[in-house]
Amino acid sequence: MVVFFRGLRNGVLTSGWPKRADVYFDEFPAAVEVLPGHGHRDLLAGASAAVEACPTEAISIGQAPELDRGRCILCGRCIATAPDWFAWAHGADTARLRREMLVVTPTVGSDDALDAVRAELARRVARLRRSVHLRHVDAGSDGSDEWEIAALTNPVYDLHRLGIFFTASPRHADILLVTGIGTAGMVEPLRRTLEAMPRPLVVIATGADAVSGGLIGRGYTGGTGVGAILDVDVWIPGSPASPFSLLHAILLALGRVSATAGVAS
Ligand code: SF4
Repeated sequence: MVVFFRGLRNGVLTSGWPKRADVYFDEFPAAVEVLPGHGHRDLLAGASAAVEACPTEAISIGQAPELDRGRCILCGRCIATAPDWFAWAHGADTARLRREMLVVTPTVGSDDALDAVRAELARRVARLRRSVHLRHVDAGSDGSDEWEIAALTNPVYDLHRLGIFFTASPRHADILLVTGIGTAGMVEPLRRTLEAMPRPLVVIATGADAVSGGLIGRGYTGGTGVGAILDVDVWIPGSPASPFSLLHAILLALGRVSATAGVAS
């Protein structure tokens, strides 16, 4: 009875995203963005200091700073060091359909090849429609991404309301969600998982470790990200990627949201 009345008092806690934005978006730092610079030499010196401060070599400086979200672990040092150049970005829109699109600059360039990638993915997933099964494989993770993936089935995110479910068998899976740096020991298990999955299938690299090796890759276990092992369709930055970023990536793969998190259907 106590639980019943507590439920009535709390009301519906499940997020309405992607139909409507979530209040959580305004609070949670989902990624780092590069602010438009003003060409002042002192400002650029500040950005250079951020290069030194970054533990994963995610920032480089050419004409202007570039930040690779695929390497970023969201430590916030660049923002503290060079607030004129770097700031937190909020929302769910962090996943991208091409690896190079995770590299952000002060100006957003056009990408003609992206339309072709999106069209090919849309053709491939057309048959999946509204009942989609995910298989998760840990390819050398530190465990943080798994906590966020597990949260997808809690009452707040409730993945099932979107017709998306986890499966223990690759033979029932439409989407392969890979976490971890891609250790040498996981090359063969990943290959066999892919082989067992029915076609069409989609591969999502989840978190900075899976995208680039992150902070823990390139050690004695190997691991510069799973892109060296698999053909990845969607890249999710973050360390770990938040549940909303995971949701965005899955729906992006299915063509149910746009790359900028606008709701397509
Ligand atoms: S927030 Fe990301 S880009 Fe900035 S210093 Fe940390 S790892 Fe580097």
